[in-house]
Amino acid sequence: MSDKEKELEEIKKKILNCKKCNLWKTRNKAVVDEGSLNAKIMFIGEAPGFNEDQQGKPFVGRAGKIFDELLNFINLKREDVYITNILKCRPPDNRNPQENEIKSCTPYLDKQLEIINPKIICCLGNFATKLIMKKFNLNNKIQGISKIHGEIFDVSTLNGQIKIIPIYHPAVATYNPNKIDILKKDFEILRGKNG
Ligand code: URA
Ligand code: SF4
Repeated sequence: MSDKEKELEEIKKKILNCKKCNLWKTRNKAVVDEGSLNAKIMFIGEAPGFNEDQQGKPFVGRAGKIFDELLNFINLKREDVYITNILKCRPPDNRNPQENEIKSCTPYLDKQLEIINPKIICCLGNFATKLIMKKFNLNNKIQGISKIHGEIFDVSTLNGQIKIIPIYHPAVATYNPNKIDILKKDFEILRGKNG
């Protein structure tokens, strides 16, 4: 096992037993991640939904179908990229994540970012966009996802230059099919960037 794998196994264990916020009480399975530890592109969603909570995998429900279609569109597979969420446990009735839950859970995401060290962070939806832009000191550039989707933010980190790219959450296309074209156009930015 590589060091990365070991480190990730450790946080996976912690997450599966985590009780840092109340969501542990209603979860079926915590959802840690999927994909390659050597991925250049990391996708960050919001939180597991019903199907994800059942299977313990990210993006396997209706939004996941769209996500897969989008990856396929740019010739990528799940195993090429790294996929996770802000919250590892499902909020009841898929309600929005609460401030205290985000605060309790983000140390895990921070650790995942440190281990994967992606070149591109693709934030799916408003919650991930706000969280990541704050983390990388882009507070004054934060806007709603309908304004900011498809923009590329270059930031310098101790590990070099990275790009932060906000994209609509794929779930929007489940209730508004017109959004699929916008999603595809934004995903085009990622084409060829995982190598
Ligand atoms: N929505 C998300 O944000 N993440 C998932 O894993 C599934 C649906
Ligand atoms: Fe722990 Fe995060 Fe699950 Fe809350 S959502 S119990 S902080 S893993």
